[in-house]
Amino acid sequence: MKVAVFSTKSYDSEFLDAANAAAQANHDFVYFDTRLSPKTASLAADFPAVCVFVNDDVGAETLEILAEQGTRFIALRSTGFNHVDLKTAAELGIKVARVTVYSPFSVAEHAVGLVLMLNRRLYRAYNRVRDDNFSLEGLLGFDLHDSTVGVIGTGKIGIIFAQIMQGFGCYLLGYDAFPNPKFEEINNARYVQLPELFANADIISLHCPLTPETYHLIDANAIAQMKPGMMLINTSRGGLIDTKAVIEGIKSGKIGNLGIDVYEQEDELFFRDLSDTVILDDDFQLLQSFPNVVITAHQAFFTRNALSDISNTTVANITEVEQGHPLKNEISYQLSVSIATSG
Ligand code: NAD
Repeated sequence: MKVAVFSTKSYDSEFLDAANAAAQANHDFVYFDTRLSPKTASLAADFPAVCVFVNDDVGAETLEILAEQGTRFIALRSTGFNHVDLKTAAELGIKVARVTVYSPFSVAEHAVGLVLMLNRRLYRAYNRVRDDNFSLEGLLGFDLHDSTVGVIGTGKIGIIFAQIMQGFGCYLLGYDAFPNPKFEEINNARYVQLPELFANADIISLHCPLTPETYHLIDANAIAQMKPGMMLINTSRGGLIDTKAVIEGIKSGKIGNLGIDVYEQEDELFFRDLSDTVILDDDFQLLQSFPNVVITAHQAFFTRNALSDISNTTVANITEVEQGHPLKNEISYQLSVSIATSG
């Protein structure tokens, strides 16, 4: 099948080509490094399938152009689908499939990496030693052992994050709209309601999806309930956090450490080299200026294992459509509503 692949980086084409060859699928991937948007949708004219990543614009306007040009299938190279207007896609007869599962270890391990980096100020220590500055001032951390970690969203990634933190000797408080029995099988783990989690956690890590219910879950009201000096980690979706409220939380000392791999306005920034330009996002620049904030640019998924899983599933999804087989990983509007309301 002829597929227009948007937001292509070198690693996307490398892993997609390898998966295409391994499956002997013979899909005709045409790679575009530009992002999909109403302005670039014309590149996909006459392509029956389009393949996109998390910051491509798959809103109503783009979908209408794609449908007009003959596209009937969209393959997401992601688990999250909050960037797709599934209702409009359904109305236009465009099917959408996602990568339901790929290495959850990639994201959970990155979240743990942010915890360690912030707690022991490894980013500052690395630069200092390179500068022959061997002072320890400002590098003081705390033992993770015996600390309390709140995990919001205990699905595939949240469970693995919790298991790793249990290995450090942490106590775990979980919150999930749809509790997962596997969580309470972990030693020293129990479910609580959000106010108890906010009040007692030294570290809070977000692993729930972005839905209308979870939008700005971490707002001024939530932050007011948290322990002074707590650490907040977000590797899930930027919209879970009210950035302005978090900035105030850092200024007041309520939030002692912030580690984020996702940012609400990241589609203006991430996955590009902007080192030669002036960044106009004042909130982002302010966050960058704080000594207790570490930002990575949506790289938590970025392991060989995860890229291989994503590419293999994407090729299989396209093959199912080409061969007219049932689309196992289809994400329909009805299914998306039920995922948001049933977990
Ligand atoms: P999952 O579906 O296995 O788990 C999500 C959990 O969140 C479920 O247990 C669900 O019940 C829970 N949940 C749903 N609504 C909730 C609510 N209102 N309050 C609390 N919990 C709620 O998903 P996963 O594979 O563990 O992925 C979690 C998130 O990680 C994804 O939604 C995605 O946004 C993010 N992610 C980020 C990256 C990255 O590179 N940074 C990569 C992959 C996934």
